[in-house]
Amino acid sequence: MIRSPLYDAHCHLHEFSDPEIERFITNGYVIIAVSDDLSSSIRTLGIYRKYTNNVIPCIGLHPWNIEKESRENLEHLISLIGKEKPPCIGEVGLDKRFLPESSFEKQSEIFRSFLEAASSIDAVVNIHAVDAWRDALKMVVSSGVRRAIFHWFNGPEDVLKEIIDVGYMVSINAAIKVQDKHKRIARLADLNSILVESDGPYNYRGMRLSPDMLGETLSIIAEVKGISREDVERTVERNFRRYIYRQG
Ligand SMILES: [Zn+2]
Repeated sequence: MIRSPLYDAHCHLHEFSDPEIERFITNGYVIIAVSDDLSSSIRTLGIYRKYTNNVIPCIGLHPWNIEKESRENLEHLISLIGKEKPPCIGEVGLDKRFLPESSFEKQSEIFRSFLEAASSIDAVVNIHAVDAWRDALKMVVSSGVRRAIFHWFNGPEDVLKEIIDVGYMVSINAAIKVQDKHKRIARLADLNSILVESDGPYNYRGMRLSPDMLGETLSIIAEVKGISREDVERTVERNFRRYIYRQG
């Protein structure tokens, strides 16, 4: 049986073991590999060099790591973006749930510097914006970034509408299986603005997320939208190719 590849719009591939990565590639997954800091960005670039056809590498600093990473490393990351010109920047963004409010100014400053770097090379930005969806959208729009993926989107309906109107994407996470509010987002969002993602190997309510869950994710989206699984798979693939590879 020939199976079309499944497209993961947000995965921490650098956290998986080499045999696991090898298996994902053999299974034909195409994976946007986000990074968390300088060392994982370097590992992600290494994985990309090995599996060029299946991996889209992102350089970034996760908002959860802004206190851990030194100023020098932050500057190194920004210069690495200029040197490597990756197709994607991430995981970057803002967080108003898991981080203290006192850090918001620093989060914004760092996010802005990544948005500027992304804009200068026309890279896609892979965005974390838990409970800061509106703030993040405002910053992305004003930065001039043309392509952005709001990963595991769970924000307000009017922000979802604006993201789609501006031409950005939301990615639906495999956690949709157990997260009812995410089902609601999948139902509300225009299918042409949807990608799917694992955020693997993040552990969510006892599930170790992985690209292996993408098939089920597509089926659940089909179910909540009341359309066929085949239509969802075909459209999500087309979205990915159009948005990431700029084909079609
Ligand atoms: Zn992530």
